[in-house]
Amino acid sequence: MTQNSKIIGKMNMRNTKHSGNKCSNRHKGSTIRRQLVFGFTSFAVIILFIVWVLQVLLLDKFYEYTKLTELKSVLNAIEYSIDDEDIDDICSDLASRYDVCLMLYSVKDGKLSKRIVDKEVSPTCVIHFANDAELNKYYNEALKSGDAWTERFSLIPEKTTNNDHHRNDDHSNKPPVSDVTHRVQRFFDIAISVKSFQDPGGNEYAAFINLRFTPVNAIQQTRNIQFVYISIGVILVAVFFALVFSIIIAKPLEKMTLAAEQMANGDYSVEFKCEGYRETKRLASTLNYAVDQISKTDNLQKELIANISHDLRTPLTLITGYSEMMRDIPGENTPENSQMIIDETKRLTTLVNDMLDYSKYSSGFEEPNLTVFNLTDSVKTTMNRYNELVRLKGYCIDFEYDGEAFVYADERMILQVIYNLLNNAVNYTGNDKRIAIKQSIFENGKVKISIYDTGIGIPRDKLVDIWDRYYKVDTLHKRAVTGSGLGLSIVSKLLQLHGASYGVESAEGKGSCFWFELPIQK
Ligand code: ADP
Repeated sequence: MTQNSKIIGKMNMRNTKHSGNKCSNRHKGSTIRRQLVFGFTSFAVIILFIVWVLQVLLLDKFYEYTKLTELKSVLNAIEYSIDDEDIDDICSDLASRYDVCLMLYSVKDGKLSKRIVDKEVSPTCVIHFANDAELNKYYNEALKSGDAWTERFSLIPEKTTNNDHHRNDDHSNKPPVSDVTHRVQRFFDIAISVKSFQDPGGNEYAAFINLRFTPVNAIQQTRNIQFVYISIGVILVAVFFALVFSIIIAKPLEKMTLAAEQMANGDYSVEFKCEGYRETKRLASTLNYAVDQISKTDNLQKELIANISHDLRTPLTLITGYSEMMRDIPGENTPENSQMIIDETKRLTTLVNDMLDYSKYSSGFEEPNLTVFNLTDSVKTTMNRYNELVRLKGYCIDFEYDGEAFVYADERMILQVIYNLLNNAVNYTGNDKRIAIKQSIFENGKVKISIYDTGIGIPRDKLVDIWDRYYKVDTLHKRAVTGSGLGLSIVSKLLQLHGASYGVESAEGKGSCFWFELPIQK
């Protein structure tokens, strides 16, 4: 037993090393912590980049687009409300809401005639400092461009000049702007927009709007500094959360790894803690199930090696001992000693055959070869194998049946089932050496074979276990009745292969009844 344990121990060690080599490349992979820090930081950097593009690179463009759209909507609103008696109030409202200067002229004979509305909200208004000729020029530009014309100017501050104005070079071909620059202290941008339209009565009008762009550059510096601080803050927060999450995720995994290493070294008492996320909990419970199964297999393996080594070694030792004795000691070459050798050899043969049968059936290596055959005859054939025993040892085997039953099954397998059950009945029956077999045919189309003995019976709590491999109710019982411990597990496997129902009823000290049922083939 100790030797066996050592063998298993060595095997485990080898397996651990082997799997270690197998995964050694994977161990070099990235850790969860590194992955999360990288992921979170990359995400933060991408978001910051998008914000930077929108806030720093494209802000001017957005602002300009929004403002020019506002210009258009103010002009449209004036055109829409031109025949409204409250046009003056409407224009006041528009001027203050959109922070624009506006003028509305009636037009006669293609020239600006009368100023109907005049709203000035900005000190840097181009249209309010333009003379009539200039305004007419803007109006003509609007007529030339369809009905509306918009132009944007960059004015350069000048404190000294009178009637002098400066525009950007690229605007040099645009209409002149009046002297407004003395009122301006720094760079600023202006857009003027002119629209020509008619009221429902066909009267013509021209609306002038002056819009001042707030210089975005003024807050650019502040925004850039702010952006740097925000970036540092966001990246630090991302790294912090990545570390926190990595700890939360990785901790249960690290614990499980330790437990798995313990398990790999043969300690099956380990428990994988079900903690953390649902996935890690599921992994832990699967591993707990696996460790449970492995420990069962391990126990079975140990038990198997112990049983086989004991059951094989005992007859072999006896055979060797008796043979040597008969060879070396004159007068020991008796028929009894020869019989002993023959019995032990038979026992050995039975054990090896049972082991082979069991592995064949349980591995699915052998499938049932189904034919129709006479089950009643099969019982009689099996009974005939015991004729000698009945005659020499005084056993009494009764078979009670009414009519013959045919079944569709594997005849060889069913013969083995009957033989194993009858063999147990013979081995375990009481001192009266009585065994009864009963065949019952039911109306539901089934035939039941029951094998009764009058022996020691089986304790109620052991009735389930006896179908397990190598299970023996009483391991200390006489060698004369010792079987391989595989007989009933072979019976159960064979009947399962046929989908048949089977069972046992037993009363301690009174006897047992093993039975199985098969469908009758008409
Ligand atoms: P074995 O070769 O030991 O008989 P089996 O698988 O045939 O192995 O039976 C398993 C155990 O079930 C036996 O060791 C015995 O303890 C119990 N058993 C089987 N048949 C009977 C029976 N007819 N009466 C009492 N106990 C039985």
